[in-house]
Amino acid sequence: MNDSPKAFGIKVRTLGEFVFCQRAGILSSLQETNDTEREYDQPNLDFLPQYSLAVVEEQLAIHLRRLGTRATLAVLLLVVGGVSFWFSWKIAVVAAAVLLFVLSRSFNRELRSVLTLADTRRQALQAEPVEPPSTLSSAVPVNWWSLLKSGFDSIRLQESLRDEETKLSGTPWRVLRKGSLRIPVIKLETANFEAGRFWVYPQHEIRLAAYAHLLATCEGGEVPYAIALFGDSFDGIAIPISAEAMRAIESQLDAAREAIRRHAASLPTDAPENTNVCSGCPFGCPRAVTEAARRDPSKKIHGVPARDGRSYHSECGDLFSWTPPHWLAKKKGLLPPNA
Ligand code: SF4
Repeated sequence: MNDSPKAFGIKVRTLGEFVFCQRAGILSSLQETNDTEREYDQPNLDFLPQYSLAVVEEQLAIHLRRLGTRATLAVLLLVVGGVSFWFSWKIAVVAAAVLLFVLSRSFNRELRSVLTLADTRRQALQAEPVEPPSTLSSAVPVNWWSLLKSGFDSIRLQESLRDEETKLSGTPWRVLRKGSLRIPVIKLETANFEAGRFWVYPQHEIRLAAYAHLLATCEGGEVPYAIALFGDSFDGIAIPISAEAMRAIESQLDAAREAIRRHAASLPTDAPENTNVCSGCPFGCPRAVTEAARRDPSKKIHGVPARDGRSYHSECGDLFSWTPPHWLAKKKGLLPPNA
């Protein structure tokens, strides 16, 4: 690693992790293989939301056809079962009943897909064109379909954005383009979405600011605000990109690089002051120690025996030789009683 403060690259996701927790930042930097925001809407996955009206309509047509085929088969099986019953062909009746049972599961799946997609299509068609003002000064709620109705094109970048000066790189989930406007969009993985400002934390704000910086640098567009969508919903929030947020990127990058250097030099990285943040952190989630992991000489396992008699470890625990107070660790009895 070079001694220059800007000698090595950092990805936007890692920068966000550093704002959340220094140890999470170190773990993320060691795992940096993919800088693309998580993709949710692969068209072949039935129940995940689609974010393009064209894809929604295409998928709806496919699932309607499948539903029709299953309905026809069900009617045929009912007829066969009825005739078999009439002539007391017991084996045929049982076979028809079994096939009907199997078919009903697939029918239900298709029906749910059709209902979900039809509802999404309705929302997309009924949305009013609404977009935040380019002079946005405070966070406002937004709706995906209203933004598209306002004339934004949703772009999935094929290549990562990279700023050669700061050596920051990353790929937002989508970029909304309209005229000279470039709006980065990320998706927050919140299972319990309740629309509101309080679900966007500083680690998300720095990611939004970092993507805004990358878009302004790489595409030369105007980025007055950035958007976070919540969970698998079509609702989210637009956050203004202030000069202060842009300045914070530089200082956070320096702090992150300093923390990575310290770790590379085998200096300790402190746990967060408020270890409540470990409760839901995926890096601290305990997993049973497998035989393969135990035998792997490249792995330094920090295993702790649980009440169930098995030994558990976590990514953060292994790297920093401790047991993070994750909720599952408490449940399994990996922590001292009053921890
Ligand atoms: S488990 Fe705690 S210390 Fe470890 S990365 Fe997560 S938040 Fe940080």
